[in-house]
Amino acid sequence: MAADAKISRESLAARDAADPLAGFRARFDLPDGVIYLDGNSLGALPRSAAPRLARVVADEWGRDLIRAWNSRDWMGLPQKVGDKIGRLIGAAPGQVVAADSTSVNLFKLLAAALQLNPGRRVILTEDSNFPTDLYVAQGLVRLLGGRAELRRVAGDRIIEALDEDVAVVTLTQVSYASGAVHDMAAVTRAAQNKAALVLWDLSHSAGALPVDLDGCGADLAVGCGYKYLNGGPGAPAYLYVARRHQDTIDPVLAGWMGHADPFAFDGEYRPAPGITRQLCGTPPVLALAALEEGVDLMLDADMGALRAKSMALTDLFIALVEQECRGFGIAIAGPREAARRGSQVSLRHAQGYAIMQALIANGVIGDFRAPDLMRFGFAPLYLRHTDVWDAVASLRRIMETGAWDAPEFKTRSAVT
Ligand SMILES: *Cc1c(COP(=O)(O)O)cnc(C)c1O
Repeated sequence: MAADAKISRESLAARDAADPLAGFRARFDLPDGVIYLDGNSLGALPRSAAPRLARVVADEWGRDLIRAWNSRDWMGLPQKVGDKIGRLIGAAPGQVVAADSTSVNLFKLLAAALQLNPGRRVILTEDSNFPTDLYVAQGLVRLLGGRAELRRVAGDRIIEALDEDVAVVTLTQVSYASGAVHDMAAVTRAAQNKAALVLWDLSHSAGALPVDLDGCGADLAVGCGYKYLNGGPGAPAYLYVARRHQDTIDPVLAGWMGHADPFAFDGEYRPAPGITRQLCGTPPVLALAALEEGVDLMLDADMGALRAKSMALTDLFIALVEQECRGFGIAIAGPREAARRGSQVSLRHAQGYAIMQALIANGVIGDFRAPDLMRFGFAPLYLRHTDVWDAVASLRRIMETGAWDAPEFKTRSAVT
């Protein structure tokens, strides 16, 4: 396409017809009249989730009762679902468990990193990291008193901020705000060259782009189950510990599910070998079953095709915003190069909150992040190129008519 050729809706319908991932859309239960651009915050509902939950409730819980911990291997779910997530993030089996929340897993693994790197006290992160990642690190530092310190620098200063005090670098690979991607291999190498460990937060990476934890030699990682993995609201998160570190960690949240023999009811904690010691309490069986449906669906998709479509959709959105929405004071935030961004685009506007509420009222669902970012996520498994066109057409209409400038769009809800 020539640089100044106009993009037409017809040309996009042709791209949808040729899309190798088009068939996945039918495997989601999406409401009519909605263009869902928030799969980066809460993934859509896989059609298989409700029947699976009904089976687990009626057959497993209802019939087998407590026997199901053995007969249905409920006990093995964190490892089983973890290994499946591992296939999406380049982790060989036995290094991932699905458990707890991302926040709790961050706490566990930041504490582990300080243990693995004794004599060093600095947790290095970027200023614009996701707030919970910062809060958890701050809480751990307070708990440890003088034993640890949090150092925050700009995202592009991480490598130069590495020194012999840094125990662990903790970064979110894809920024929740701008969508910018850190180079996992380069940062991991630079940190390890200075004998620091790296803890990656993959919340906006898994299911959105190829990740190769083992290939990069990463040490530790965490991530979220309810975003691109489509695991459902509040789905269990996951954590990764490279095999070489597993048996050196003495878990700070030493719960009975991470004990070597939980049903020995021994009064002394003895950690289980391997990744299992990272478990704490009883697995949330219903939530793990729903998450497994989302992960299984994602595993059927070719990750290369998924990334190619994700880059095409975000490029298209940017091009259409520039083509259709000039003169409205909307700026593109984040990288212009598809290779440097995840599966989302953020737009900046001083009235971003009201504009987003007007979009949502018109069936285009994205979200808003203070102070002025409208976020649009593009989940390649259920979005079409024509959806991107229709979403930008709505945005243009709202800006042209000033429809966003209405009192009902200006009251902030608890979740934005
Ligand atoms: C979504 C997200 C979280 C969520 O943490 P919870 O404990 O599940 O609430 C954490 N970190 C990042 C980077 C996220 O994007």
